[in-house]
Amino acid sequence: MNLTVLGATGSIGASTLDVVARHPDRYRVLALTAHAAAEPLFALCRSHRPRYAVLSGVSQDRDLKKRFSETGTELLFGAAALKEVVMHDDCQAVMAAIVGAAGLPATLAAAAAGRRVLLANKEALVMAGPLFMRAAHEAGAKLLPIDSEHNAVFQCLSGNPLRSVRRIVLTASGGPFRALPIDGLDGVTPEQACAHPNWVMGRKISVDSATMMNKGLEVIEARWLFDVAPERIEVLIHPQSIVHSLVEYVDGSVIAQLSNPDMRVPIAHALGFPERIASGAKPLDLGAIGQLSFERPDDARFPCLQLAYAALRAGGTAPTLLNAANEVAVAAFLAGRLPFTGIARVIDETLNDLAAAPADELAAVLAADAQARRAAGALVMARAA
Ligand code: NAD
Ligand code: MG
Repeated sequence: MNLTVLGATGSIGASTLDVVARHPDRYRVLALTAHAAAEPLFALCRSHRPRYAVLSGVSQDRDLKKRFSETGTELLFGAAALKEVVMHDDCQAVMAAIVGAAGLPATLAAAAAGRRVLLANKEALVMAGPLFMRAAHEAGAKLLPIDSEHNAVFQCLSGNPLRSVRRIVLTASGGPFRALPIDGLDGVTPEQACAHPNWVMGRKISVDSATMMNKGLEVIEARWLFDVAPERIEVLIHPQSIVHSLVEYVDGSVIAQLSNPDMRVPIAHALGFPERIASGAKPLDLGAIGQLSFERPDDARFPCLQLAYAALRAGGTAPTLLNAANEVAVAAFLAGRLPFTGIARVIDETLNDLAAAPADELAAVLAADAQARRAAGALVMARAA
């Protein structure tokens, strides 16, 4: 299978290439992409020998192009090249692992081209869920979730009809601030927020995990991926991150998927599907872990979760506005320009200030994204002043 990895230099990109390298007989890397990280991308090209590499945030650079060509890789520049390498005739599968709204155009192009889409870029579904699912359906694209929770749900559903499902329960670790006194949240630093107890991830999703906006985005993602109403999607905190999610059936049976917290497990599942292939993850030793615990999330500590449910219920471009405001607020927090608790406030105010529109055209989605970025940016500036 020929694979394009969008966002190859990131955390999911690294785990993907680790699994791929374990199965040289099954997978060939067609293209690897990064935004601006030329050196890390070059190192990946030397070990994986793709036909193409893309630096989407860099304009033409002859010297770089020559260096890459010496390893047998043609280097392309600019965001349009992302679409080229997913729509290439020889591309069969796409790992969509760009972070944030920037991943939408190429991920959507992969779905519309009927590729097997390994979907890590949840923001694409949050921004444009119905549009994305329609494009995938019309092109016959196979969508395989990479988010560990959605991959777990996919495995627990195992093709059963939706009418037999009572509800879906997404688990969440609760992040690094689950037990911190609430009045201490105002003073937490980006380093503390990025020190996740169980997973090593990119900085944006690490902050999203600390606010639990990550789970909010995942509720929206689950709504579109599995076509279930929001009131049938629940969130439960499970600090050990061993049970990745659960599906409850109408007869009262609950099916869960368990593994050590290692993204190579869902990645190997999606790469191999319907077969099972080795992932390199350590076997799960429940005897050593001893206890698994669960608790309900506290809305006062994690206001972002309810903001996401509200945007999902409001419909149209409301989730697009939510996602864009969150990206702006998280970037401001990481840059030291907004306190941690300001993230939820900026999102809430942005959603209060802007009206949602129908989200049936990509142009409307992108316009809502841009509008929310401006509004949230102004709110951040006003707070910093
Ligand atoms: P990361 O920050 O580690 O990597 C992001 C990748 O995207 C890099 O290769 C970077 O070069 C590229 N990129 C960044 N901005 C870009 C832009 N504007 N245009 C094109 N490319 C750009 O992120 P990550 O943690 O690997 O997460 C990637 C996606 O996977 C996110 O949507 C995240 O929510 C999702 N995800 C990640 C994990 C995880 O464990 N890391 C788990 C579940 C879902
Ligand atoms: Mg997840």
